[in-house]
Amino acid sequence: MALLPVADALKRILESAATLETEDVDLLHARGRTLAAPVVSKLDNPPFDASAMDGYAVHAEDVANVPAHLTVIGEAGAGRPFGGTLKNGEAVRIFTGGQLPAGADAVVIQENVDAAGAAITVRETAKTGANIRPQGEDFRTGETLLEPGRLLTARDVLIGASCGHGKLPVVRKPVVAILSTGDELVLPGTPLGPGQISSSNAYGLAAVIEAAGGEARILGIARDTMASLEECIAASDGADILVTSGGASVGDHDLVRPALEKAGAKLEFYKIAMRPGKPLFFGLRAAAGKTQYCIGLPGNPVSSMICARVFLVPLIGRLLGRETAFEAVEAVLAEPLAANGPRQHYMRGLLDTSAAPPRVTPFKNQDSGLIKSLQRADCLVVIPANAPAQDAGTPVQVLKLDI
Ligand code: AMP
Ligand code: MG
Repeated sequence: MALLPVADALKRILESAATLETEDVDLLHARGRTLAAPVVSKLDNPPFDASAMDGYAVHAEDVANVPAHLTVIGEAGAGRPFGGTLKNGEAVRIFTGGQLPAGADAVVIQENVDAAGAAITVRETAKTGANIRPQGEDFRTGETLLEPGRLLTARDVLIGASCGHGKLPVVRKPVVAILSTGDELVLPGTPLGPGQISSSNAYGLAAVIEAAGGEARILGIARDTMASLEECIAASDGADILVTSGGASVGDHDLVRPALEKAGAKLEFYKIAMRPGKPLFFGLRAAAGKTQYCIGLPGNPVSSMICARVFLVPLIGRLLGRETAFEAVEAVLAEPLAANGPRQHYMRGLLDTSAAPPRVTPFKNQDSGLIKSLQRADCLVVIPANAPAQDAGTPVQVLKLDI
């Protein structure tokens, strides 16, 4: 099978997926979720003409000439409206957020009033509408306040709560099962025996998945046997996505692809023209009554994380009905670069945005075994397949690392 270009692989993954169902979520848990339907206000805000200040509700014409002498006939506090109607010569003591009494059309602030019991003297004039927040000034019943596809922010939650909704409709989180494979792997934190390494991928991937809006489910470590792989793959039934790491090349112990196919996964592709990350399996599998997307990532931690950002994050985004563009920046090479081979290269590097244009320095050693260089990098420089050698100053495409 020929190596599939990265863009084609991503396109095929995205074309295979559609937005998941909608569920209502409590406002308390809405932030970070993806809105599934428009949020339409059930209320006017403010719901009534309200005072913006502490002071006195009056007829504006009564205070057109000052000093003006008025009689206080009652009080309107927040949540405690004054039931009556103001006649000329009368005032109602009012507080911020209080409902404007019938008959009143202005509020004079208390700093401009001398009070002696029920008798007050207003020293400054106030025009009609002064210090009043009119009903519906902010938003109105029936107004669409939030559009679907939004990643809900704290501010979105605030407006949802303000406009009469106790819950918000969001897209169900895709459940992403993560399966690590390899006889050499032990849980992070466990002392290493001979030939063993720390199984880091599952935790790095779980963090990527959660940040992308998915729900990560760690299935554990499958041994390099068909039986162990089959058992672990079966444990993923019900998950929307199954992500495996390792066992993805063609060595004797690389059984993941055969095991996935044996479990019913229909292969879409399994080799891409990408570095790091040539062995990348993608297939669809019917499990527990729904389509499960199976992505086989390389075992190498750097490769698996970069492939997860390039393919898995957009797939999660598609299931959520959300765009997850990898922010691309134009930059120039700070140093010359050798010719590239036949695979699109995602080079770890550092971006200097204080320069104009921004300058990027790919690390000298791009060995995909170097986890620290991924951790230290702040960007990936994308060098197309078969690109010739490039001089310093050549414009390149740079992806800012956001994982
Ligand atoms: P494989 O594709 O299974 O040959 O794995 C390629 C490399 O990645 C090997 O050096 C593995 O030890 C390593 N590797 C595989 N899975 C993991 C994992 N979950 N965490 C850390 N390293 C891994
Ligand atoms: Mg392995």
